[in-house]
Amino acid sequence: MSYVDEVIAMVSEKNSDEPEFLQAVREVLDSIRPIVEANEAAFRRDAVLERLVNPERQIKFRVPWLDDNGDVHVNTGYRVQFNSAIGPYKGGLRLHPSVNIGIIKFLGFEQIFKNSLTGLPIGGGKGGSDFDPKGKSDREIMRFCQSFMTELCKYIGADTDIPAGDIGTGGREIGYMFGQYKRLRNLFEGTLTGKGLSYGGSLARTEATGYGLLYLTDELLRCHGESLQGKTAVVSGAGNVAIYAIEKAQQLGAKVVTCSDSSGWVYDPDGIDVAALKEIKEVKRARLTEYKAYRPNSEYHEGRGVWSIKCDVALPCATQNELDIDDAKTLVANGVFAVCEGANMPTTEAATAYFQENGVHFVPGKAANAGGVATSALEMSQNSERMSWTFEEVDAKLKSIMENLYHNIDNAAKKYGFEGNYVAGANLAGFEKVLDAMNAQGIV
Ligand code: NDP
Repeated sequence: MSYVDEVIAMVSEKNSDEPEFLQAVREVLDSIRPIVEANEAAFRRDAVLERLVNPERQIKFRVPWLDDNGDVHVNTGYRVQFNSAIGPYKGGLRLHPSVNIGIIKFLGFEQIFKNSLTGLPIGGGKGGSDFDPKGKSDREIMRFCQSFMTELCKYIGADTDIPAGDIGTGGREIGYMFGQYKRLRNLFEGTLTGKGLSYGGSLARTEATGYGLLYLTDELLRCHGESLQGKTAVVSGAGNVAIYAIEKAQQLGAKVVTCSDSSGWVYDPDGIDVAALKEIKEVKRARLTEYKAYRPNSEYHEGRGVWSIKCDVALPCATQNELDIDDAKTLVANGVFAVCEGANMPTTEAATAYFQENGVHFVPGKAANAGGVATSALEMSQNSERMSWTFEEVDAKLKSIMENLYHNIDNAAKKYGFEGNYVAGANLAGFEKVLDAMNAQGIV
């Protein structure tokens, strides 16, 4: 059995109750075979892949908090510090009832390669809790965040591990966590990113993941003699990534006709009204059922359905495994040209393979959504030099990072004989740098 297959078998046996982590490991290890197989004996001798798939550190803790009635609730908190070969751990905190160690490990593992692809010095980590922010009052959110940070603060720091937002963790939650970190550690430092502008946040960080997704998509289209001008796009999700993906897609001339949340989805034939969406989701924190009141011509449907709409570009921006093989078949039958992932691993393995077999340009999340973490690293730089850059400066850096990233994965795919396969290109290019740093630092 090849070394790659041995390690995949070992991970499958040891982590059989972590399907998302297994999915992520399988995809990456499968892609990096050309590098490993060129020097298999040395890889095996140094247990490179075993070290790659085992987190450097996993922290699991109790998070007790009081609701507004004075009743006590207990959630579980996690931080997985996966790989610090190229820089301090960096990755978001997810607050969602579906969170468990397998989900956090999958996200942390992906983050290693994503962070490497940005070209910036950041290692991979991820964290979160099974706490459900939905329906909680502001004070309940604050008490949860404070309790969560009371434990987490022992393990993080501006040069150690720098968490950020993710599903369920936006500016409000980062603010409460930062306040508690500062209070307990007596340090005003850039330990979290996605901070508010009045206390060390970066302009353009809120927009970065969605905007970055579109800068990369635009470059992909340009390199294939196309442009977003006049194209129809479908987007899933209605959170941070989705909102700013829709905004930038429209600025670049595309018409985005859908968005969704976990209850249902909207079809707006005239193009999603971003101002209305922001008011519903960012200000009122309400459900998409309200959208029709702003746009009577739109339709609201319960359940899933975004991928049934005919489009040129599909941008999944909600959550993992939200686009399956049936959705992929529908999109291909409807003539989709490109699928670029705003969320982390939103496309199932079978759906990914189907897109690739049918000539759809498919860019995985670890490349396409790297603009968020890249801009977080720019926030870290600004914090370190006690400076704030203008929106235009940050946005220009983001655009250049995403364009370079596209060429980096495109070139890596070509170099190893997988032209047009951006999954292979992203994994190979991301791994090359991490491998070099791991080898240089000895067996640690
Ligand atoms: P938000 O919490 O802001 O929004 C998430 C959106 O996805 C909401 O519309 C939510 O609906 C929907 N959603 C979440 N879980 C499910 C589910 N199980 N089924 C259907 N819909 C669901 O998160 P973000 O926009 O920040 O994150 C979205 C994705 O992008 C995630 O995969 C995240 O890991 C990834 N990402 C985020 C980055 C960032 O900078 N924020 C950076 C890189 C990647 P509802 O409100 O009903 O729950």
